[in-house]
Amino acid sequence: MAAVSSNQDPLAPVAAALFHPLGVDGVYARTALYEGMIERLTAWISRQRDPRAEVLRFPPVMSRSQVEKSGYLKSFPNLLGCVCALHGSEAQIRTAAQEHETGGDWTRALTPSDLVLSPAACYPVYPLAAARGPVPAGGLLFDVAADCFRHEPSRALNRLQSFRMREFVRIATPEEITTFGEYWMARAPQLAAELALPCKLDVASDPFFGRVGQIMAVSQRQQALKFELLIPYHEGAVPTACMSLNYHRDHFGGVWQLANAAGERSHTSCFAFGVDRLTIALFCVHGVDVPGWPQGVRRALAI
Ligand code: 5GP
Ligand code: ZN
Repeated sequence: MAAVSSNQDPLAPVAAALFHPLGVDGVYARTALYEGMIERLTAWISRQRDPRAEVLRFPPVMSRSQVEKSGYLKSFPNLLGCVCALHGSEAQIRTAAQEHETGGDWTRALTPSDLVLSPAACYPVYPLAAARGPVPAGGLLFDVAADCFRHEPSRALNRLQSFRMREFVRIATPEEITTFGEYWMARAPQLAAELALPCKLDVASDPFFGRVGQIMAVSQRQQALKFELLIPYHEGAVPTACMSLNYHRDHFGGVWQLANAAGERSHTSCFAFGVDRLTIALFCVHGVDVPGWPQGVRRALAI
């Protein structure tokens, strides 16, 4: 079996135990060893959930118009994947498909459908909550998850095109959002410690597109709207963001008209677990021999 990473990569043996190549960078078949740990980690994340949270699981695709309305194309147009299909009559679809048989380019006949690949797990929850009417006193809390896609092909183990994201999402007053953020900023390093993963919590910015994006990133940092829990996969490695806290202020409240009964616009925040990145971190730091992992880690993960 060909390794996913190159031979010079210190993580190549780990990659070989977790993944099989599928012909496209950043998209891999996952071994039983890996998926077993994804399940343990998923259950461990569920144990961190506030019992009041409403659980929702989303498919890997979502409404294109909802993503457009969310402003995603302003910030990350380069990362979005759109579902395209052959539309039209039977004859038109047959002609397009036959292009491929004759060495032509069948994809020229593709046109966009009303779906995109979900770029993050939390986007569908805001319109869903807004459709229920005013945000109740005390606000809302969700536990959401989705398979996410970002168009950034890479051979690096920590940069998958298709990865799983789990998020705790809060829709509430600015004060309640502050409490939520403070809780998860304090909790994130404790969670990493429970898994015996070295980490650093740091203010961060999103990879906004283009030159205007650089200005947006500076402003996001200055306002401390994003924090990441960074874990180095090996000694000396540039650390990888495995959890992140995002404060959107009243952006989604404005887009979806999320407000309380008094008409005050809601603020939103989400705390995201990069499920794949955390699982890869566990194997990189503790090795692929799971019975040899520290006892505390195995206890935390109920192994
Ligand atoms: P964010 O929306 O903050 O960029 O991403 C949320 C979480 O998803 C991050 O904390 C990270 O753990 C995970 N994530 C983001 N990009 C990637 C990626 O390219 N590959 C993987 N495996 N996880 C990612
Ligand atoms: Zn989110």
